[in-house]
Amino acid sequence: MARYTDATCRICRREGEKLFLKGDRCYSDKCALARRAYAPGQHGQGRNRKLSEYGMQLREKQKARKYYGVLEGQFEGYFELATKKQGMTGENLLKILESRLDNVVYRAGFAMSRPEARQLVKHSHFTVNGKKVNIPSYLLKAGDVVAIREKSMSLDKFKAVIEANSSKPALNWLSVDRAKGTATVVNLPNRDEIDLPVQEHLIVELYSK
Ligand code: SF4
Repeated sequence: MARYTDATCRICRREGEKLFLKGDRCYSDKCALARRAYAPGQHGQGRNRKLSEYGMQLREKQKARKYYGVLEGQFEGYFELATKKQGMTGENLLKILESRLDNVVYRAGFAMSRPEARQLVKHSHFTVNGKKVNIPSYLLKAGDVVAIREKSMSLDKFKAVIEANSSKPALNWLSVDRAKGTATVVNLPNRDEIDLPVQEHLIVELYSK
């Protein structure tokens, strides 16, 4: 599957926002955005950031897409799905993105970043409701139980990640048992429980043109 492979931190610098794509580094003073808070490239420092209405809508969409590591076509598919659900389309879109298996693995503290969660899922380290699932975009629903596979639980990798994330604040919508390596989706999060720094109404406006 095609994937964005440019230097990861450039994505944050382009969006002018921390998107937390590199685990620990994002919380340290090594964060590229903390050190170079301007757009990448030769004219990054001089670029006029005043955007047109369309430009702002586009940026918000790109930011959300990159935050979750989703390609353009798949993102459009999620938007279509969001319009068919009851409620606010923008909030529905974010709920769908949050319900991805790779995101839940990250939110549960079983990976240091979403890109790492995606890789761990692809390497078949997780089950959903007792069955092996290696599709990062698998959409979870309330009641689903994600678990680190028994043989993976003994890997140093998981021991280290779980330890490193042990002080991560608990989420109301996700019940995590770190000792067992399980996370149960209590319900999908409301907007105020999603810390994504985007104005989703701008994404809705963009796709409604
Ligand atoms: Fe973004 Fe993390 Fe890189 Fe900082 S360290 S620029 S938050 S990916």
